[in-house]
Amino acid sequence: MMQQYDLSYILNHLGEEDRARHRGAVAPPVYQSAIFAFDSVAAMRAGFNDELDTTLYTRGNNPTVEILRRKLAALEGAEDALLFGSGAAAIAAGVLAGLRAGDHVVCVQKPYSWTRSLVRDFLSRFGVSHCFVDAREVAAIEAALTPQTRLIVLESPNTLTYEQQDLAAVARLARARGIRTLLDNSYATPLHQSAIALGIDLVAHSATKYLNGHSDVVAGVLCGSKALIREIFSGPYMTLGAMLSPHDAWLLIRGLRTLPIRLRQIAATTQAVVAFLSQHPKVEQVWYPHDPADPQFALSQRQTTGASGLLSFTIRCDSTRAIERFCDALRRFLMTVSWGGYESLLFPVAAVYPPDTKVTETRTGTVPVNLVRLSIGLEEADVLVADLAQALDRV
Ligand SMILES: *Cc1c(COP(=O)(O)O)cnc(C)c1O
Repeated sequence: MMQQYDLSYILNHLGEEDRARHRGAVAPPVYQSAIFAFDSVAAMRAGFNDELDTTLYTRGNNPTVEILRRKLAALEGAEDALLFGSGAAAIAAGVLAGLRAGDHVVCVQKPYSWTRSLVRDFLSRFGVSHCFVDAREVAAIEAALTPQTRLIVLESPNTLTYEQQDLAAVARLARARGIRTLLDNSYATPLHQSAIALGIDLVAHSATKYLNGHSDVVAGVLCGSKALIREIFSGPYMTLGAMLSPHDAWLLIRGLRTLPIRLRQIAATTQAVVAFLSQHPKVEQVWYPHDPADPQFALSQRQTTGASGLLSFTIRCDSTRAIERFCDALRRFLMTVSWGGYESLLFPVAAVYPPDTKVTETRTGTVPVNLVRLSIGLEEADVLVADLAQALDRV
């Protein structure tokens, strides 16, 4: 049986109970050490036999990283977890672990861009085939399975158009056939979507986003059963070596402490922003899975327990010239990739197109060129709404 902890115990204490070891220090030390010494050959031999849970070499385990590992496993309701130097590394390790030449992977239609590259361009070089499916209906996944399918890669919601999968239904389908499931849960966070409890085998996060929340660390985590985590540890984790540094783990422990309060504030502000955008004449469509107007709102109500601060909208216009005027006029949104920080951010799809592209020239199968994604931060709602209003006047 797994131990159950309350939320504030996980964030404030779990993994940090032995404060006497550090002369009572409330903030845990950064163990900035690559290697750990043993007192005897017998102790070293025992270490080699259990490298995942021994401090032997920091590519495998480190005491500061281990604190974070325990917290994130507990938050996700998983038996164990592994920390990586990026979300992409966590996803890659989870995907690569169970595959060999001849296997087949089913992946959602619009995953994170580097997940798409991993499945489409990278796996194919090693004899692993794939297909991308619109997985909003579980039947589409079922139809895509072949006798060689070993893995289903999910992302619910994804981060530009917020498509969701019915996780419990996909997990049932996969388990009945012995197929592994991996979910990118970055958008919902472990606080709002308990995918392990729904039957998903491996849950990955870009910890760069809400988990850290301060735009100063790139990190990833993979959560799962003890057996799966052990398999991944002695496979891609140790061989590819994409571990998290102790210092970045320390920053993440600190960022994580305020996750619930950040998310609560962000969700409330986002609701005000969505309400403003939804009624604005220059806004064509708003994408936000926690808005009753979203076609999959019922699923987000059932499957998640709270809202997030990432949303998209399209602007009524003919060319990206108008989008540029809008984006360049914003003063309180920083124009960046990524999301999930304390500060509000903006990502215009127009930036990946040449200047003055017509909206009708959107590449087929991709999101509209007039789509803008906002990541809502901790600013006052009225400040953000006023900024959006003045910038929309420039369209
Ligand atoms: C950012 C992101 C990733 C990749 O994470 P990194 O930490 O940047 O490597 C994966 N999935 C989603 C949904 C993301 O937003």
